[in-house]
Amino acid sequence: MIPNTPIYSTMLTQLASLVTTVSPEREQIPVCAPFTGQQIGSVPICQAEDVREALKRARMAQQAWAATPFAERRTIFLRYHDLLLRRQNDLLDLLQIEAGKARHHTVEEVLDTAINARYYADLAESALSPHRRAGVLPFLSQVWEYHHPVGVVGLISPWNYPLTMALSDALPALMAGNAVILKPSEETPFTALMGLQLLREAGLPTNLFQIVTGYGPDLGPHLIGAVDFIGFTGSTAVGRLVAQQAGQQLIKCSLELGGKNPMLVLDDADLGRAVTGTVHNCFSNAGQLCVSIERVYVQRGIYEPFVTRLVEQTQALRLSKMIGYQKDSMGSLASADQLSKVSQHVDDALAKGATLLTGGRARPDIGPYFYEPTILTDVTPDMLVYQEETFGPVVVIYPFDHVEDAIEWANDSEYGLNATIWSRDTHRARSIARRIQCGTVNINDSYPATWGAIDSPMGGMKQSGLSRRHGREGLIKYTESQTVARQRLLPLTPLPGLKLSHYAMLMTILVYLMKYLARLR
Ligand code: NAD
Repeated sequence: MIPNTPIYSTMLTQLASLVTTVSPEREQIPVCAPFTGQQIGSVPICQAEDVREALKRARMAQQAWAATPFAERRTIFLRYHDLLLRRQNDLLDLLQIEAGKARHHTVEEVLDTAINARYYADLAESALSPHRRAGVLPFLSQVWEYHHPVGVVGLISPWNYPLTMALSDALPALMAGNAVILKPSEETPFTALMGLQLLREAGLPTNLFQIVTGYGPDLGPHLIGAVDFIGFTGSTAVGRLVAQQAGQQLIKCSLELGGKNPMLVLDDADLGRAVTGTVHNCFSNAGQLCVSIERVYVQRGIYEPFVTRLVEQTQALRLSKMIGYQKDSMGSLASADQLSKVSQHVDDALAKGATLLTGGRARPDIGPYFYEPTILTDVTPDMLVYQEETFGPVVVIYPFDHVEDAIEWANDSEYGLNATIWSRDTHRARSIARRIQCGTVNINDSYPATWGAIDSPMGGMKQSGLSRRHGREGLIKYTESQTVARQRLLPLTPLPGLKLSHYAMLMTILVYLMKYLARLR
């Protein structure tokens, strides 16, 4: 479909009608296309009463859903998987229009969401069915571990990956038997709404997954105040506010926050692959990616050729607002705020003596928020770009002589989200990886290696987050664990008529016995 045509506007209006609101008269948030700055549609500014309505509907839908067999849930999710792939062109068009991305950077989102749906469809039954556990005394104790849904999960998502970030936490939460109310970013609500529309088309009960739209500081606290669990993805600063409110209410929360991600390029790296991987890792989605690399430490022996080739490949990237695939292209920054932050970081560095190897300027001739992919060297700790997350197409290169120094510098950050290491000695790279204080570390590839490893947890150490998504952890966190134990024959309290000292001796012998039995197994 062509953007800014009546048929496209009708589609966006239909998507906006999926927002849960009790009033058709709500004020509207304009949604603009970063490629042009023009408004493409609008969504309602939901209020507290809309959240209350969504909660009422969600509670009712959740009860029936929690009793729905896993096989039925799985069928819906696998249908969703196929719908995402079949209708990917509609999603990719919308992602490009709403988020201003190059198309090959958007396709990752569709594939990732499909993988996520399939993975949790297949995992849920085995992970969440009751399990027998060892009791206090062998043979005499029987124990079962249950996982109950927490109830209604609230999710707050950012604009940078509007489909992945909206759906990749909603899917496991739903599969675990919960209802979900999502507040997507006010900048990219339509992609999340299309994700919801397809999920309903796949057969998900209507009120089980709802979307409310509004500005974060106004609507966010109402949502957090209503739900049993809050999952937040966004900046560390807002994450702290979310955690504060969750702490006051004592509800569970998970936080997926910012990063200042390091890369280590060792002397023995495959130069060609390392350079290509660096370009992908730094400039995908114009660097507006939580796991994007912003600091590259290159060992002295390979420093000159690495930098020369990196500059060449970066200069070969074309800034483009074409709707469709275009080789070696990079899209726009998402908003005026993003452009202002990126420009501020680069200008500050240059004013304080950094060296610009390429880029370093906005390109209003292409579109209002375009910014050239930028490489800096000679960056020092007094510059903003040294420690702060830029969240744009800006990378800083530092040389190093000793790997120990590179590890220390990589860890010298309040963040701990993601890292990459390039080396032909993968054994050594793995031992270095374990010393990097980041939740994910990629060896000889960029972020898709760990992000795509959906069977393994993903998330941040230090100020980059609390809790994990993906893997079993990403599902279990949306449940309340319960232990049920039945004791047979010998109670775990003193027997009537037995002297307390004899009871203590009997239990001591049993505890010794258990140690020996455990070793025989
Ligand atoms: P943001 O924190 O400004 O906003 C994120 C969401 O929170 C939006 O929906 C926003 O409306 C809402 N919000 C804003 N103020 C709020 C408040 N007071 N209470 C409740 N909700 C509020 O972040 P952003 O600019 O949208 O996204 C960029 C940031 O997100 C970067 O720091 C990036 O690293 C991070 N991010 C992290 C991950 C991850 O998985 N770790 C993924 C994507 C983005």
